[in-house]
Amino acid sequence: MTLELDQFPLEPDPPAVQTSLAEVIGSSSHGVDAAYVHVPFCFHKCHYCDFYSIVDSSDRQEVFVQRLEQELSTATTHIEGSLESVFIGGGTPTLLRPDLLRRVLQSIDRHLPLAEDCEWTVEANPETVSSEVAEVLVAGGVNRVSVGCQSFTPRLLEALERHHDPDNVALALERFRAVGLDRISLDLIMGIPGSRFEDWAFDLRTARSLGPQHLSCYGLQYEPNTPLGARLLRGHVEQVDDALEADMYEHTCSALSADGFAQYEISNWARPGQACRHNLIYWQGGNWLAFGPSASGHLDGTRWRNVSRLASWLEPRGSTPVEDFERLDNSTRRGEQLMLQLRLNRGMPVAELEALLALESTDTRRRALDQGRLDGLLERDQGHLRLTDRGRLLADSLLCQLV
Ligand code: SF4
Repeated sequence: MTLELDQFPLEPDPPAVQTSLAEVIGSSSHGVDAAYVHVPFCFHKCHYCDFYSIVDSSDRQEVFVQRLEQELSTATTHIEGSLESVFIGGGTPTLLRPDLLRRVLQSIDRHLPLAEDCEWTVEANPETVSSEVAEVLVAGGVNRVSVGCQSFTPRLLEALERHHDPDNVALALERFRAVGLDRISLDLIMGIPGSRFEDWAFDLRTARSLGPQHLSCYGLQYEPNTPLGARLLRGHVEQVDDALEADMYEHTCSALSADGFAQYEISNWARPGQACRHNLIYWQGGNWLAFGPSASGHLDGTRWRNVSRLASWLEPRGSTPVEDFERLDNSTRRGEQLMLQLRLNRGMPVAELEALLALESTDTRRRALDQGRLDGLLERDQGHLRLTDRGRLLADSLLCQLV
């Protein structure tokens, strides 16, 4: 289904197939590394976004939190050991009423076994960060925030139908720092329609001037079920030229490196010791539980997605409704492991790679990797196979072949 612009936003149709989390992962416990909690509310739907969220939510926040508390209270039966990371994303978690946000944090702390040094991140929209919200976060145990900036150029934010005032990013950061929350990540989007090289250089310069410890710079994706995707199909929007986007990416790598950031993944840069542990768990094939509508989890090769509709997720029942799940076979798991680890700048240890390839029944992946080296996209370095600078620019097609 492609959305018409005037149909947006809406609640998706109920999913055709539903099962429950209990049926998907059973009742046994697993070594779990992380938890993801999805808060499905936004004050406005940005036109490029295909994450599940709804607007006009104030009447449903309380019932959402009640159900989430119930979901969290049953989680311990599945967990062995302690969690290295919790990530609350959305939607806009900082849109929750402060008393409800406090309840969510308390419930996570009460029901999930968090490691002593657990990384606890909350996504924040700069329009929603009051001093009270910042205080609630830090008092609840949050030690890292990820702020969605996307651009500091009003014309480009308009192109995305993203409603926030760029000046409020600095204000949000001030409020976080005032309460001692200084592990700050900023998100930027590269290749917004109408963006010129100098616009991107300005966005990057402005983000760096705010002193974050971490930066994520993703190329704009035109997702099919979004108004921006619909506009592209109709020819109403012009994509930024590939060569220009490559120039922007190369500029990002050199400017951030000169500024003391280390690139650790295709789209992520961090100051020393500030890489996002949560994302590393995803990229290293770790196990994580998922809470809230549309949240996705993974346990030992089984992936699932909670139902992506608030009304269905809220229905009273014991176990979380799941709309989709998949048990990965060994070959698919190996392909994903290769693809995810090669996204990381450090690459994959050659010994681990050889052990993995030895389990393959065909030489398809080995040939794709050899061809990648011949084409200058991959290299061996310090006992690892990794992408070259050129390989990072062309990573999508190469890594797809490995899956
Ligand atoms: S604020 Fe974030 S989650 Fe909400 S619509 Fe915009 S991009 Fe999507």
